[in-house]
Amino acid sequence: MSSSTDVIDLASTDSTLRSELLQQPEGCRLTACMTCRTCSCGCPITEVDNRFDPARIIRMATYGLREEILAGDVLWLCSGCYTCQERCPQGVRVTDLIMLLKNMAVQAGHVPPGIRAQKELVTRKGRIYPLDDFDNKKRDKIGLPPLPTSCDSVKVLFLRPPGEPKPADPVP
Ligand code: SF4
Ligand code: SF4
Repeated sequence: MSSSTDVIDLASTDSTLRSELLQQPEGCRLTACMTCRTCSCGCPITEVDNRFDPARIIRMATYGLREEILAGDVLWLCSGCYTCQERCPQGVRVTDLIMLLKNMAVQAGHVPPGIRAQKELVTRKGRIYPLDDFDNKKRDKIGLPPLPTSCDSVKVLFLRPPGEPKPADPVP
């Protein structure tokens, strides 16, 4: 379903997706959507990239387009700003639902290269963006305390075996 002119073949959809989502707290309001598109109108990502449209994702989930949602890269454009969720007149948890779909995509083995690279960075370095003395000087200028330039506790957190206690966090 890549454009408004595409036809959905309902015979090839996954009817279990909707009931699966409805059983989750994030998806329990899915069928309350009345397609008003308030979510899309306020979305800052839709404004700059018309491939992304939260109302379309809600519709696709309702129709059971599992593979189209989970295997695509559009989900990952959501910034998680919560504008859509706060404005939805029907109480659909749009942002939470998109986050749930992202988690389902990962579980199904669909991880975009950029997200995989971020995960590798966090695992190896403890942060996505390196922090050094230059950053701490900028923090100092605006009255913020310094942050540790290494994040060993995060690395340990990722590498520790299941069941081992979490190490103390040195971040002030
Ligand atoms: S704002 Fe809510 S009801 Fe309206 S289209 Fe979006 S999810 Fe559906
Ligand atoms: S949370 Fe995602 S879908 Fe909702 S308005 Fe923000 S960027 Fe758009």
